Amino acid sequence: MLSRRNLMFAASGIAATALAPRLTLAAAATATTSTPVGPFTLEPLPYPANALEPFIDARTMELHHDRHHATYVSNLNTIAKDYPQIVDMLPVDALERLAELPDPIRTGVRNNLGGHANHAMFWTIMKAGGGSPSGGVAAAIDRDLGGMERLMSDFNTAGGRVFGSGWVFVTVARDGKLTIETRPNQDTPLMDGKRVLFGNDVWEHAYYLNYQNRRADYLKAWWNVVNWTEIGNRYVAARAGTLAF
Ligand code: MN
Repeated sequence: MLSRRNLMFAASGIAATALAPRLTLAAAATATTSTPVGPFTLEPLPYPANALEPFIDARTMELHHDRHHATYVSNLNTIAKDYPQIVDMLPVDALERLAELPDPIRTGVRNNLGGHANHAMFWTIMKAGGGSPSGGVAAAIDRDLGGMERLMSDFNTAGGRVFGSGWVFVTVARDGKLTIETRPNQDTPLMDGKRVLFGNDVWEHAYYLNYQNRRADYLKAWWNVVNWTEIGNRYVAARAGTLAF
């Protein structure tokens, strides 16, 4: 009998990065010493750490992926030792049903699985060279967000207004409608049953080495490294109900 996980995976023909049924698929062969050991694993960056320079510097990428993201994964593995049921849950289900989780782990799952899902998304929707949207997602941006210039302006404004640490996202509804939304800390629209088309991390750890307090400059520069091919794939997957995180 096919599990729901397998069904979700089999239903898709596009980018595995966006569709990994669980966030636990890293190949052991690619493990490094900084890779957490346990049921939750840290995928390597899909490009060299310096690939996004000069917009995001290599040291920031190394610390962000190998320390910050790795810590969320390690924390999840610690939680999983006593609560192995979280390993078998789809991340979207665990995050959507936080209220049903045992009291001692609810906040830990919210912060660390939220952080894992947010960062797993984040690495894949960037690439060297950037580009521009096409196809269905480009049409949706024109229709719902007033076109690319308006999207970039509104997204940067929203990201700039996040007080303290958090994220700015574009969410996609099942009918394809796009919305700009922000969340504090490692919260994610997945917690509200929504799907993330893409998002930018506005925690200081995402930009401080290169931009210091100039978050607005980071937000503006970030558009140079957005991977519109992957975002186009995510848009199709979200509409098909197969986008896993
Ligand atoms: Mn981060």
